[in-house]
Amino acid sequence: MSNQIPVHNVTPPANTEGDSVDLYASRRKIYTRAFTGLFRNLRIGGGVLLFLLYFGTVWLNWGGHQAVWWDLPERKFYIFGATFWPQDFILLSGILIVSAFGLFFITVFAGRVWCGYTCPQSVWTWIFMWCEKVTEGDRNQRIKLDRAPMSAGKFGRKFAKHGLWLLIGLVTGLTFVGYFAPIRELTSAFFTGQADGWSYFWVGFFTLATYANAGWLREQVCIYMCPYARFQSVMFDKDTLIVSYDPRRGEKRGPRKKDMDYQAQGLGDCIDCTLCVQVCPTGIDIRDGLQIECIGCAACIDACDTVMDKMNYPRGLISYTTEHNLSGQVTRKLRPRLVGYAVVLLVMIGVLTGAFLTRSLVGLDVSKDRMLYRETAEGRIQNVYSLKVMNKDQVEHTYVLDATGLPDLKLQGLREIKVPAGDIFTMPLGLSVAPQALPSATNEVRFILRDVQNGDIQVQAKSRFIGPHVR
Ligand code: SF4
Ligand code: SF4
Repeated sequence: MSNQIPVHNVTPPANTEGDSVDLYASRRKIYTRAFTGLFRNLRIGGGVLLFLLYFGTVWLNWGGHQAVWWDLPERKFYIFGATFWPQDFILLSGILIVSAFGLFFITVFAGRVWCGYTCPQSVWTWIFMWCEKVTEGDRNQRIKLDRAPMSAGKFGRKFAKHGLWLLIGLVTGLTFVGYFAPIRELTSAFFTGQADGWSYFWVGFFTLATYANAGWLREQVCIYMCPYARFQSVMFDKDTLIVSYDPRRGEKRGPRKKDMDYQAQGLGDCIDCTLCVQVCPTGIDIRDGLQIECIGCAACIDACDTVMDKMNYPRGLISYTTEHNLSGQVTRKLRPRLVGYAVVLLVMIGVLTGAFLTRSLVGLDVSKDRMLYRETAEGRIQNVYSLKVMNKDQVEHTYVLDATGLPDLKLQGLREIKVPAGDIFTMPLGLSVAPQALPSATNEVRFILRDVQNGDIQVQAKSRFIGPHVR
């Protein structure tokens, strides 16, 4: 018997008559069966955590405003105690890159656990499947219901299912938009008809997107639309955890009586009950070998373990294993690719943490007025600037402003600036120099802004000082 995962030839048959080959396969509706088991419980735990995070975080307040809030009109992103400005988006990009590397690391190590347990597409699909079971019954009842002609009972069940789906979609959409428009105001305005048109549009859009993705498209998103599903297979190696059927133990499959000596009949442990296929959310038969459609949800493991328990056979006919294990070789936990991802990940987390901890809590933008320079009544050369002071902290700060770069530089304007928490203060400012002190027509000047109480909070910005060339 082969100790390899079987590979099937899926090349379309040769077309001898010159007709075109239709590559379109219409979708076969998948009716999943309910099941219980360890991995289902783990998924429920992960799903509850994800739901609490997603639906709960948006209602938390911090420092007088929503704790996590993309304030798009003000171009600020609040995340608990930290405020990110457009200048800090490099840090947010860093967080995204670290998350991507984290995902690569997990994929190399444990395969598609992200897909099976925490991907929102999967989690929402499992919730929608639960709604389906509550309203239309388990697998066989749903198949029967779909085949039956329309009746008041069937209409009622379908209505209840779609109503529940839309309700979950609405709460999901409203919550999502609530991360961009404060959720408390949004919710009350939304349900009293006072919200603006864009709020209705975006909540409606995300409601329908959730309804369509988790209710209708389901496994099609994973199989045909998700880019991560496409490229993650290249990250797999023979030591990556995969959900796999053990053909050496399972074959030859076939039905049998519970206590018969099936091995004497040449049978393996698989009783060919097809429960593993019936619970699969992507509708595949894992006994056919590793397939791109498999999202690693382990539903088939739970279903098959239940069967093994009933038959008094050892569990694990379908299990999390590796290709090396399946072929009787030793699985290597530490391998160069995994170590490489771990090292890169740790370095990036270190750099990102350092950049976050040392980022300035004050920002200063200086733009020079279009007028090159003017001469004041005292005969000095003056340049005018527009200064934008950003307090990125969660408390009010008072700063003192200075300028250097030229001898005898004088500031005309506010020297002491008070800026409320998370606010921007814009002001005009003049710099003047005696003409004979100018070394050239274009000179570099530096503005320095310091917190009056904490000298560590300071920022500098460069600009140009223009004057007549006097030498
Ligand atoms: S659930 Fe287990 S025993 Fe039943 S068909 Fe699948 S692999 Fe065989
Ligand atoms: S084959 Fe098993 S692990 Fe893969 S998607 Fe189907 S049920 Fe989930």
